Amino acid sequence: MSNLDVRPKPVECGGRDDVPGRPVHELLPPRRVPLGESTVVRRLLPSLGRRMVGAWCFVDHYGPDDITDEPGMQVPPHPHIGLQTVSWLHDGEVLHRDSLGSLQTVRPRELGLMTAGRAIAHSEESPRDHPAILHGAQLWVALPDTHRHTDPAFEHHADLPVVQKPGFGATVILGELDGAASPGTAFTPIMGADITLADGAEARLPVEPDFEYAALTMTGITEIDGLRVEPGSMLYLGCGRRELPLRAADGAGGLVLLGGEPFEEKLVMWWNFVARTGDEIGRARQDWMAGDRFGVVRGYDGPPIPAPALPATPLKPRGRTR
Ligand code: MN
Repeated sequence: MSNLDVRPKPVECGGRDDVPGRPVHELLPPRRVPLGESTVVRRLLPSLGRRMVGAWCFVDHYGPDDITDEPGMQVPPHPHIGLQTVSWLHDGEVLHRDSLGSLQTVRPRELGLMTAGRAIAHSEESPRDHPAILHGAQLWVALPDTHRHTDPAFEHHADLPVVQKPGFGATVILGELDGAASPGTAFTPIMGADITLADGAEARLPVEPDFEYAALTMTGITEIDGLRVEPGSMLYLGCGRRELPLRAADGAGGLVLLGGEPFEEKLVMWWNFVARTGDEIGRARQDWMAGDRFGVVRGYDGPPIPAPALPATPLKPRGRTR
């Protein structure tokens, strides 16, 4: 998905300065961002208080929306550099096209993983005949300096490993959980898992003390580390845990747990670009507008998204929390 903010603000993030070395509870409230005319997404990362969780640098949550009589998601071709995108669905279908020629329908709990590397363009749309309900999350992962100029790639993994216990199921999106490893390509120590809890079920998840974590609640009310979290929220958890207690507090619960080693490098994010300097962002913007570098997305019914104007103030990387 694209950051469709008409006037996106530059976000500077990365570096370890403000990563707590201990367990914390920081509730990150969602910010509502209109996406086209009929859809609103809730942005959880970057937020005012926190900008990254490991290499995870962007989290939008959308739906559940009934799109029976609507086109649903219609995100025209747009560019990315320096990141990976993860399309993650609980309900519905998204048709992905990119400038490598990929054409792939992504369904619930399948991994659509796009590595932008030095440059890629893609579009995402609800297919013409689509399921009634659309509910999902768009996640971005920052690439480390060693891999951010890599070749662009798209992976689709329909059979992700699942950790199953009574009342508990976890699909491993990226990295590892409880010995199960995702086939998705990762470039930093990172994990993502989609967790389902039956009504009243409890679990103690094994986690890495060196990773920082955050949980995005998608369905139901979940008690995370003893704290009751409403659906559509993100709870930042800090580092230093070996176990994470979870409990479905009111009906079944569905959440996405994101974690990783704190990202040491300082970044600058603007629109759909993750870079290290404002000059790189400016060049990427210019190349997109000139039709260079990013290639062409074929088959999408509509023109590509023009880049917004750059902000008047220069972009430079700085700390990772406000
Ligand atoms: Mn995108």
